[in-house]
Amino acid sequence: MGSRSTSATCPSCNALFERVAVEYDEEGGCVALQVTPCTACRRLLCSACDCSQCDGCGNVFCADCLQLVEDGTGSPLHCCQVCVQEGGGSAAGATPAGGVRSDPNHGPR
Ligand SMILES: [Zn+2]
Ligand SMILES: [Zn+2]
Ligand SMILES: [Zn+2]
Repeated sequence: MGSRSTSATCPSCNALFERVAVEYDEEGGCVALQVTPCTACRRLLCSACDCSQCDGCGNVFCADCLQLVEDGTGSPLHCCQVCVQEGGGSAAGATPAGGVRSDPNHGPR
């Protein structure tokens, strides 16, 4: 018991996911869609969302928060705004923004 599943739609890209596990908390049923929040704007990104990693800090950002940075090699980097302001991929110091991690893989099966 407790292993229910349903379908859910990503709030960002409207991709439909079937057989999504449902978790229950104090407010009732809550669909545990596997999403990753954009590091900058907190927009939820599912596996189908248009998102990628920053070439500077390696965090996950949505497409809106990444900027193309020409580094003279012909293949521009994808950098977040923080990395762009810090000079575009200089390895001087990658500061991880916060340590907030939420792992939805909880609960009995
Ligand atoms: Zn974003
Ligand atoms: Zn999505
Ligand atoms: Zn970055």
